[in-house]
Amino acid sequence: MSEIITFPTRMKVEMQGRSVAEFRSTLKGMRNSIVQSHTAALEAATAKLVDVGDYPESRILGPEDSVNWLQATTEDRIWGLIGTRVNSYGDGAIYNMKVQCDRCPKSYTRRTDLRPIEDGGDLVIWGFEKDEHREAFKQGLPFEGKLGERGIKWRMAYGTDEELIEKLSKDNPNAETDDLNLNCRIVEVEGMHRNDVMTWIRKLGDDRIALTDLMSEASAGVDLVVDTRCPWCNSDGEATIPFDLEFWIPVVAAERDRRRRRKDAALIRMAEKN
Ligand SMILES: [Zn+2]
Repeated sequence: MSEIITFPTRMKVEMQGRSVAEFRSTLKGMRNSIVQSHTAALEAATAKLVDVGDYPESRILGPEDSVNWLQATTEDRIWGLIGTRVNSYGDGAIYNMKVQCDRCPKSYTRRTDLRPIEDGGDLVIWGFEKDEHREAFKQGLPFEGKLGERGIKWRMAYGTDEELIEKLSKDNPNAETDDLNLNCRIVEVEGMHRNDVMTWIRKLGDDRIALTDLMSEASAGVDLVVDTRCPWCNSDGEATIPFDLEFWIPVVAAERDRRRRRKDAALIRMAEKN
């Protein structure tokens, strides 16, 4: 089944569903590099780029109407991965997420509909809220704002940044991913040499919240956090959709459930015998 998917950046891509066997072979490398297997999954599901949306065409258009997924924003990549799952399975939009309650010791299943709220699902996606941000993105220019008196220029995160951050985290397990992410996205801090930005980020303290808030204003994205309610103690919580193997291959979850059921049945039979 193929469908035209509209992304937070208004890009439109025709994407096709994939079989479990195809997913398995694409995701084989997931242990080595999650980013690379995500890129491979996106490339394999892409039929063609229909509309570049807010992207500069030179950035996103690959050979023969393909999408240059390493140059797509992280948010668009996430949306593409979700779309791939929705397109691949009959009930691909339904994702039964395991949630651990943070108020009581129980866990439960949160049934999540991976379609946008506008289509009856649970997910919120949004485009650029300000024209100045959309225009800057279109022209490949950084966004601009002020942190106190200081001018800051920054940009969205792309697939290439994800690759770089994955590599840096592997080489240096103590590095904070959030710091690496901010450092990648910041283009310029007024009156500061670029080499000093990382040290500045590490020492930001309370200004860090203001900085991430400023940067989040210029975004086109998808919210992976869904509201939950524990059926055991009725307390409200939040859960983030993970992109683990069970997300990609629902069969893995079904297999696990089947194994458990058979084991339980065998244990009961054994108890009855004794
Ligand atoms: Zn609970």
